[in-house]
Formats: sequence, structure tokens, C-alpha cells
Amino acid sequence: MNFETEAIRTQIDRTDFQEHSSPLYLTSSFVFEDAEDMRASFSEEKQRTIYSRFTNPNTSEFVDKICNMEGAEAGYAFATGMSAVFSTFAALLDGGDHIISARSVFGSTHTLFTKFLPKWNINTSYFKIGEVDKIESLITPKTKVIYAESPTNPGVDIVDLERLGKIARKHNLILIIDNCFATPYLQNPIKFGADLVIHSATKLIDGQGRVLGGVTVGKADLIREIYLFSRNTGPALSPFNAWVLSKSLETLAIRVDRHCENALKIAEFLETHPKVNWVKYPFLKSHPQYDIAKRQMKLGGNIIAFEIKGGVEFGKEFLNTIKLCSLSANLGDTRTIVTHPASTTHSKLSIDDRGEVGITDGMVRISVGLESTEDIITDLKQALQSIP
Ligand SMILES: *Cc1c(COP(=O)(O)O)cnc(C)c1O
Repeated sequence: MNFETEAIRTQIDRTDFQEHSSPLYLTSSFVFEDAEDMRASFSEEKQRTIYSRFTNPNTSEFVDKICNMEGAEAGYAFATGMSAVFSTFAALLDGGDHIISARSVFGSTHTLFTKFLPKWNINTSYFKIGEVDKIESLITPKTKVIYAESPTNPGVDIVDLERLGKIARKHNLILIIDNCFATPYLQNPIKFGADLVIHSATKLIDGQGRVLGGVTVGKADLIREIYLFSRNTGPALSPFNAWVLSKSLETLAIRVDRHCENALKIAEFLETHPKVNWVKYPFLKSHPQYDIAKRQMKLGGNIIAFEIKGGVEFGKEFLNTIKLCSLSANLGDTRTIVTHPASTTHSKLSIDDRGEVGITDGMVRISVGLESTEDIITDLKQALQSIP
């Protein structure tokens, strides 16, 4: 079946009530027929629901949908995107193992690499987005994983997934891609050689700023390890959030189409504005990795980075003058959100470190929502005009 149909028609079996929409299974555990049923279920001779920390019909429906959308064999759903990232590493790596990661990754993932994984002697080496050819020189006998996001946050750079896939195959490494900014609708990293794909479902998958969630999908043998780790350590997605997210997936294609259409219009507007130095959006011809973006993404996504002339103060001034758009930490919402990374999320980095991940003082990130583009542009225009 096609993407939109899978998103709508992948469903858990109906109960005797013959409900049309999937019911919510708000139960912590499930009952057994007898002692033998219980024994066979615990020994996994029988595949069935036991306890919602392990699996639940709603989380399974959500995982099945994501697997179909990503072309994955299996998956596990988590309470947040970060619990998906952490549990994936914790399940697959041993003390002493080594990770090779893109330099620009989500802030908390970076903190995991620099502050927490080193506690277990798991260390990370970094490559810059444009330096994929340097990866091979970073490989050691202890290297187990290559990790990247594309498009990246907040710089909206594009990583060549096919090249990463080839390097991972050649050296027998596990390629893990955080596909959050693209969603399963715009990009399927498994097609390019990824072994595992991670999503923060909090972003465009929910798309309405309501619930947190995460998911890891990919090769069945790796997911088995991630499942066993998670079943015993407890990062499971709640059935309620799974039910919400599963419903959200039914409208993912239509929402993301509109997000991308709006974002392209706004990127084109910004590109012509005299107070803007540069605009980065994957489907603008001016994007440095435009050709790669066209090859691996269906559309350009909903995140735009641009630089306001005049540096930090003008970046902040711009945010202070915004009226309609929200100043908020989330992204991928129906509501357009603007952030100024240099004075907020990345303020603790030195100017050099910020430069490495493509953040300049006047850079603003927009997560384009589903309001009328006319109204969003009116707001951006008046805020840009306020800048001297
Ligand atoms: C938000 C985000 C995460 C973390 O997801 P949470 O659901 O907030 O834990 C991970 N990766 C990327 C790229 C993100 O944008």
C-alpha cells in the first residue's frame, strides 16, 4: 500500500465492539488464561501483551505504522525522543566502544556524548557535515556506530546519507540516523543504508504541540537488543501518547506537505529581504547541499535558518518585535516558532564552537507552522523593519 494508506489503515485488530477508530488500551497489565499461558508468555514461546512497560496494543500500532513508513523490520516506542536516543546507545554499546558522530547534533544528544556516555568509557569523535570523507580516518578498532541527523538542528545542513551508508557497510558499523526534521514522509534513511532510524515524535509526528514521544526502528536483531534493554529499564511510551501519535500519523502527509509549501514561500520571501544576509533552506537553490537534499528528501521540511544583518543584539531585537509567531523551545508545531540560538540554546558555546555548527550571532531559526503564509510574512516583515 502507499504511504498515506498505510498511515491510515495500519490498525490493531478490532474488538467485539467493531470500533472504527482504534480504541485506547489504558491498562498497565493484561490477564492470563491459566498458569501455563502465563509461563509460555513470559518465556516468549507465545507472543502476546503482558505488561505495558514491555508492549501495549497502542504502542504496537504506533510502532507498526512507523515501521511501514520507514521500511523497517521492527521498532520500539519511547516516552521521548531523548529516551529513544539514550536507550538505543545504552542497549547496543559496551564500555570502551567508540562513536563517530556529525558535529552538529541536537543539544541533549551532544550532552549525552560529552557528559554521560564517557562515564562508561564510551567516547565520540566528530566530523563536520561537509567532511564525510574524513570519517574513515576516525575509525578505530573500537568504533561501533556512525551517528548523524539530516537536516541538522539549528543550521539546516544536509548530510549525504548514501555516502554514510556506504562507509558503514564497508567497515561493518551500525549507521543510526535521527530523522526527526525530515519525518518518515520526506526521507527514509534505511533506503540509503541506515541500520536504525530514530524520531522524536514530539515534533512533526505529533505536529500539534501536545505530547512527547520517541521511536527507534530498523534491523530486527538490533531492535531485539533495544527491546530487551527497554523492557527492563522502563523508558516506554505511554498508551495514551501512543494513541494520540498514531492518530497524528494519519494526517502526517497532508500536514507536512503544507508545512513544506509554507516554508518554501517564507524562505523565498526572506531571501529577497534587504535586512537578511543569507537564508538556508534545503530546497532553495542557494543551499550548499541543495543537490543532496533533492536526492534524499521529497520536500525541504519546515525549518529555515537565516541571518539578520547586525549580530546578536539585532537577533534579539527581531524576536522582541515578533507578534504572531511564538517564542518557544519546540518545533514542528502547527504554530510558527522563532528562536535565536546564539542567545539561548547555544549561548554557552564559544563563538568558535558555534561557528563549527553553523550558528552565527544574527542567526534566527524558524519552524514554519500551518497559519496562512500571508500572516506569517506580515509578522516577519514588521519585525525585520524594526531593525535599524
Ligand atoms: C527534539 C529533538 C530530539 C529530542 O526529542 P524529545 O522528544 O524532546 O526528547 C532529538 N533529536 C532531534 C533532532 C530533535 O529535534
